[in-house]
Amino acid sequence: MALNIILLGPPGAGKGTQAAHLVATHAMVQLSTGDMLRAAVKAGTPVGLQAKAVMEAGELVSDEIVSALIDDNLAAMPDSAGAIFDGYPRTAAQAHALDAILTARGRKLAFVIELDVDEDALVDRITGRFTCATCGEGYHDRHKMPAVADSCDKCGGHEFKRRPDDNAETVRTRMAEYRAKTAPILPIYEERGLVRRVDGMADMADVSAAIEAILQSA
Ligand code: AMP
Repeated sequence: MALNIILLGPPGAGKGTQAAHLVATHAMVQLSTGDMLRAAVKAGTPVGLQAKAVMEAGELVSDEIVSALIDDNLAAMPDSAGAIFDGYPRTAAQAHALDAILTARGRKLAFVIELDVDEDALVDRITGRFTCATCGEGYHDRHKMPAVADSCDKCGGHEFKRRPDDNAETVRTRMAEYRAKTAPILPIYEERGLVRRVDGMADMADVSAAIEAILQSA
């Protein structure tokens, strides 16, 4: 049966990186509301127009919008593929909406994997990160610069981009939103025995191995 999991953790905890790794190694599909919203902003859709300023301020987009995005994307997935919820749910209302969405689609939640991280280290991580505009490979000003200046290690591309909300001020707001609205949803899943904790400050490969062990325990 397809495994459906939630990756939970503050911005910069490595949810996107780990989700991409799972997509590459399993028949799973990454459902990132952040990516969906950024695509909507770029395309200038009505949802994008509504979300743009909210995202740039580091605040949360409405529960209705993100839950509708998740439902639409889940509907487009084959039943055999597991879903990785990345950056969703972020509020109690979204957690309840996800329950209803999963039930309607005949799916069950296997795990909620919490990436445990140190907030000060996260600000350093986020404010230095950038990606190759061509292939999406991730880099960092202080921890992982391209081997050859201005040239992507993976695809050789010369264009790089940064998220507009990856600045110190917005990051602090995003952290505060996480603490106030997202962390409090953990008990909902703890009561159901679904939460597994992983040390998100460990090396990327070690985090992947820890997540793999959790999936194998299903
Ligand atoms: P992320 O890429 O997950 O860090 O999301 C970037 C931004 O998109 C957030 O700071 C929010 O403004 C918005 N966003 C993404 N996912 C959600 C969600 N589940 N609920 C509300 N806002 C979201």
